[in-house]
This record gives sequence, C-alpha cells and structure tokens, in this order.
Amino acid sequence: MRKGLLFIISGPAGSGKGTVVNALLEAHPEITLSISATTRSPRPNEENGVHYHFISKEEFEKRIENGKMLEYATYNENYYGTPEKEVLEAMEAGKDVILEIEVAGAMQIKEKIKDSVAIMLTPPNKEVLEARLRGRGTETEEVIKWRLERAKEEIMLLPQYDYSVVNEDGLIDKCAEKIYKIIESEHQRTAYTKTIIEKFI
Ligand code: 5GP
Repeated sequence: MRKGLLFIISGPAGSGKGTVVNALLEAHPEITLSISATTRSPRPNEENGVHYHFISKEEFEKRIENGKMLEYATYNENYYGTPEKEVLEAMEAGKDVILEIEVAGAMQIKEKIKDSVAIMLTPPNKEVLEARLRGRGTETEEVIKWRLERAKEEIMLLPQYDYSVVNEDGLIDKCAEKIYKIIESEHQRTAYTKTIIEKFI
C-alpha cells in the first residue's frame, strides 16, 4: 500500500486551529491526528493520551536524548513534541497524518520529511485576531499581549509554508473543507500517481 502523507497545520493563537482541526476530523475520520507530548499541565477539559501525552520535563528530555521525537520545540516555557514512532507507523499503514504544531517544529519537519505539506491557518486580519484573543476572557492583559506579538511573528513565517488558509468568523466547516481539498490535491501529485501509466502499457 502507498504510504500516507504528512500534513502540518500551524496557526497562531486566535487562528481557530483547534476548532478547525476538530471539524476536519469529524468530517473525515479516516485522517489521523498525531497526539503530541507536552510538559505543560492539562487544562480542565483535557485528558491524558487524548489531547496530549502529559509528561514531566525529565521524561521529555529523556525522550529527546533517546531520539524518540520527530521534532520538538518550547512554547511558553514548556516543551511540546511529536512522537516519531506513532506518526511513522500510521503513515506506513497508509494513513494521512496531521501534526498540529507551532512554527519551529514545523520547520524541523519540513527539513526532515521533504514531502510533508505545511499549511498555515490565519485569522482574516489583526483586528479579528485581537478580538478573538480578548474574547476568550480567561487571560491576563500580559498574556494577551504576548500571544498577540507571538501570533504576528508566526504569521510572518507564512512564506515558508506550502499553503495558507484564512479562517473567517463563523465559517469553520468551510475552512475545514479547504484544508481537506489541499489533502486531496496532494494525493494527485504525479509523484504518487505514476502507476496510472502502467494501465496504458
Ligand atoms: P497549547 O498549549 O495551546 O495546547 O499549544 C501551544 C502551541 O504548541 C500551539 O501552537 C500548538 O500548535 C503547539 N504544539 C502542540 N503540540 C506540538 C508539538 O508536538 N510540537 C510543536 N512543535 N508544537 C506543538
């Protein structure tokens, strides 16, 4: 069986990335979402092994040393990383895999796995970005400012991505379908469809 493809989805805080990825997986359950490891504490609604593998700093550093991370980065003073084995096994089994990761990790993957496809999700503009970050109503002004600055820095890296998708307010499903169309199109690359020729010989 042909291997599945690897898709990176990055998007700054306020891009609505989590919601869009959930909508994509709901509509297309055949796609696999990689579960990252992190050293940050779980939020109230989060479950170990479902949203993240929540592990200690010591355990994370041991995994880095043992070469178990396909990529990793620090974000807001915590480690986040993609477990290599699970991702490669799923692809080997023919599944398309999505990594929902930040920009530094995305660049590591692009370097390591040349045919991976990087998609950046953005809010429509800075006013919407700010309104979304403030709208959560759960963070301090300092954290909001930090997220806003970080979001702008991340969006500046857009030229290093293969695709960009804008997530307009209230159009989650449409945005998820745009991402799905990219996934479908990537499968039609001639690099993966050479066997068609054999049918004509
Ligand atoms: P959060 O703490 O809000 O769940 O995630 C913070 C940031 O870390 C988000 O931008 C998210 O995409 C990113 N992230 C989550 N998992 C990984 C990972 O495995 N590797 C990297 N590099 N970033 C990750």
